[in-house]
Amino acid sequence: MHIAVIGGGVAGLVAALECAKVGTRVTVFEASDQLGGAARTVELDGLPVDMGADSLTPALDDRLRDLGLGDALGVPETETRWVAGVPGVDAAPLPDDTVLGIPENMFSDASRRILGTGGAWRAYMDRLRPPLTIGHEQDLAKLVRTRMGQKVLDRLVAPLTAGVFGTTPDRIDVDLAAPGLNAALTRTGSLSGAVAAVRSDESGVRGLVGGMARLVDALAQRLALLEVEVRTQAAVTSIERSGDEWVVSVDAPEATDAATTFDAVIVACDESAARRLLAPVVTDLDAAAQTAAEIETVALVVDAPALDNRPRGAEIVTVPGSHRARSALHLTAKWGWLAHRAGVGRHVIRVSFDATLTAELNDDELIALACDEASTLFGTTVDPGAVRASWRTRLSVTPPRAVRGQVDAAARVRRAVEAVPHLAATGAWLSGSGLAQVAPDAAAAADRLRRSMLF
Ligand SMILES: Cc1cc2nc3c(=O)[nH]c(=O)nc-3n(C[C@H](O)[C@H](O)[C@H](O)COP(=O)(O)OP(=O)(O)OC[C@H]3O[C@@H](n4cnc5c(N)ncnc54)[C@H](O)[C@@H]3O)c2cc1C
Repeated sequence: MHIAVIGGGVAGLVAALECAKVGTRVTVFEASDQLGGAARTVELDGLPVDMGADSLTPALDDRLRDLGLGDALGVPETETRWVAGVPGVDAAPLPDDTVLGIPENMFSDASRRILGTGGAWRAYMDRLRPPLTIGHEQDLAKLVRTRMGQKVLDRLVAPLTAGVFGTTPDRIDVDLAAPGLNAALTRTGSLSGAVAAVRSDESGVRGLVGGMARLVDALAQRLALLEVEVRTQAAVTSIERSGDEWVVSVDAPEATDAATTFDAVIVACDESAARRLLAPVVTDLDAAAQTAAEIETVALVVDAPALDNRPRGAEIVTVPGSHRARSALHLTAKWGWLAHRAGVGRHVIRVSFDATLTAELNDDELIALACDEASTLFGTTVDPGAVRASWRTRLSVTPPRAVRGQVDAAARVRRAVEAVPHLAATGAWLSGSGLAQVAPDAAAAADRLRRSMLF
């Protein structure tokens, strides 16, 4: 049995490993010249810089230990997030007592600074309203607006959902994003009481010393041990059923064998590529319910001693529409191991934009824009002349599971795909964004495919 896995992101690598572990022959096709997809790391000025994912959750601990990465786990130096673009406030730290940006104490210094006195009192109305006047509300925007007012929604919740989930609060399903919050609201009688009941002081966020390359390399090494063939710069252009086999056509520089046959195919690309490959062979494939936002991320290694004292914590998110950048991540503030390697005065920052804003910019223009926005957001000069190295990359921000309708839409796609013999699909567009969702989903999809071939 020979299985083709299309896509060398974490989903594809995990699916390939799952198949190879039980002795199945596997070939992985990756369109770009590097494995990892949205979890790729690039080397800049001698430093490993994560261009997409940089954080993990405890849900992945067992898998990481299995890969020999238990000792590589580390916790962030700081997780403090700031928000910029609040009218009348330059930039301020987000309160640390929130769930999805909803504050437990609207009168804390941090909340009051962002909400203003009027906004804080409006939020306090939540404590005076009967809990059942609105019933069980699944729409995060409606829940927050009704109970705590527009300022909590616009200034605390929306910047966070845009920065973290890449979407707007009206698309977030409260029950999926914050399980137990609605029940706690009924129990405690207020939204702030519910936040207090479900909030944990421990975020559980962790990273890998050395960056996500450690995970991608560990997966690639396991695949090599199991004699999996991994082909980079090998973009699959089509898959076609021919008798009992799949014909996989590849566009690759050294393609002597432009088409190859396989017993089964696992499509593990991002949504648009996956849909292009699946549409001709899967009937009833739903049209895309929503298109993932495209972002362009610019990583800079820069000499900026003023950043040594982490002026804006780990990350600064912006009120949607207030700045050209969506967010800026200060990686040498967040990860101690990276700061140590960078040394005093040298910093790694990552600035993200809507891709439509930067599409026409050449590299120098983009670096200038990124430095300009970083200067505003970090409140200190980030000089383009002090940039030692930079990297730009476009990534699609796949909706998380918590986006309303995502789970049902993914289930419909999966049913349609798995109705085709010896075909499977996995990846963030089906599991929901985030490595803790992607990895188990890929393992499960591979397992279902193998079983379907045995029986
Ligand atoms: C900016 C950003 C930050 C993030 N931060 C975090 C975080 O901190 N923690 C976390 O858990 N998650 C994070 N995520 C989400 C996480 O990175 C993704 O959910 C996950 O990496 C997606 O993996 P995947 O394998 O499904 O897809 P991808 O990583 O997109 O991989 C798909 C692969 O398929 C390849 N491909 C596409 N078309 C073809 C083709 N025709 N032939 C062959 N190959 C093809 C692509 O080149 C790509 O390598 C972040 C995402 C982004 C964008």
